[in-house]
Amino acid sequence: MGKKVLKFGGTSVGTTERIMHVANIIKKEQSTGNKVIAIVSAMSGNTNELIKLSKEISEEFNKRELDVLLSSGEQVTCALLAGALIKLNLKAKSWLNWQIPILTDGEHTNARIINIHIEKINKFLDEGGVAIIPGFQGISKNADITTIGRGGSDATATAVAKIFNADTCEIYTDVDGVFSSDPNKIPVAKKIDKISYDEMLELSSLGAKVMQPSAVQTAMMYDIPLEVRSTFTDRIGTKIFSQENIDYTKSVTGVAYSKDDSKITIIGVEDRPGVAANIFEPLSKSQINVDMVIQNISSNQKKTDITFTVKRSDVSKTKQILKDNTKIKYREIIHNDKVAKISIVGAGMVSTPGVTYRMFRALSDESINILAISTSEIKLSVIIDEDNTLKAIKKLHTIFDLD
Ligand code: ADP
Ligand code: ASP
Ligand code: MG
Repeated sequence: MGKKVLKFGGTSVGTTERIMHVANIIKKEQSTGNKVIAIVSAMSGNTNELIKLSKEISEEFNKRELDVLLSSGEQVTCALLAGALIKLNLKAKSWLNWQIPILTDGEHTNARIINIHIEKINKFLDEGGVAIIPGFQGISKNADITTIGRGGSDATATAVAKIFNADTCEIYTDVDGVFSSDPNKIPVAKKIDKISYDEMLELSSLGAKVMQPSAVQTAMMYDIPLEVRSTFTDRIGTKIFSQENIDYTKSVTGVAYSKDDSKITIIGVEDRPGVAANIFEPLSKSQINVDMVIQNISSNQKKTDITFTVKRSDVSKTKQILKDNTKIKYREIIHNDKVAKISIVGAGMVSTPGVTYRMFRALSDESINILAISTSEIKLSVIIDEDNTLKAIKKLHTIFDLD
């Protein structure tokens, strides 16, 4: 008899009919002799609705209260799912974050799970019950309700799998698994049968929303096998596990994209040692993450342009910090929000020469201008004009044999 964590995303619990369907999936799982802990998201669209309501009150809505508000969506689905299981004559019970409790650390709206009390729930599982736990939330040491970032139910699932020492963690969602690109945007994208934690972490950090990055990180750290699969079909999903067990025949496993970044250029800065440090030190002190950096070669050795990317939500703050920075002199600061980051990811890249060149050639064949580049061992990202996003993904998909 094993212990399984099953996580159901927003679309999977988007209507009461779907919740009944999820209850049947759980019933089937339990009837094979497994102990089941189910993690649920809010009904699809609900979290966005709640954010919208808060903004109608204030754009700067108090973050403690925002967490109280946002956590309510998962409370609804927990109760509905427990009720649905009870209707199917199963023993089932929902717990709220503070009843368990799920303990978190860190700031409101972006906390992280540090511990979960297991006794009550383990006792209930031993008595043949199905435990339903809300994703995306916990309580702080002051007993304030916290949320752990958008898409956070995935992270709740992997944390629960770890702390309860589950055998597997299954992520039920609205697509058949992890694909070579977003299947809702690129219809020729193919389902990946197996993928390593490292690749999944890169793909999700670079925009593949099917798994939340911090959830993958926890799974990788504690070697928790994950499976992403569909709530709506019986097809086999994608297994995510450690790299040794994967055979790489392709250099590139997937293409991800995001429109979360902005490009900032400081025009006419002095070209002398220490300038880059003077620019970036205050940004890092303000927790602004700079991703890609390009410094142009100056024609006269006196002035140059520095371009870098930051999260779009950090642009105003970044510009203000640059303006307040008395250590740097420049002519002008400009920014561009209409950019997309396109990334290819693959553990096979390490052993295949020429991937970089093939990516650049493919984009140039489509007359797509590359505005910034960053690389790591298993990924290559470029910033391009936002309008070229789909064209670039399709082309890369084709040339790296992913269609
Ligand atoms: P859930 O509500 O179940 O957590 P999400 O909306 O968070 O579901 O994630 C699933 C979505 O992720 C899919 O509907 C799909 O559009 C998107 N997605 C983006 N990239 C990928 C990818 N590489 N493979 C699969 N799905 C992807
Ligand atoms: N309901 C939360 C969100 O929409 C958490 C989740 O769905 O994973 O971000
Ligand atoms: Mg999700």
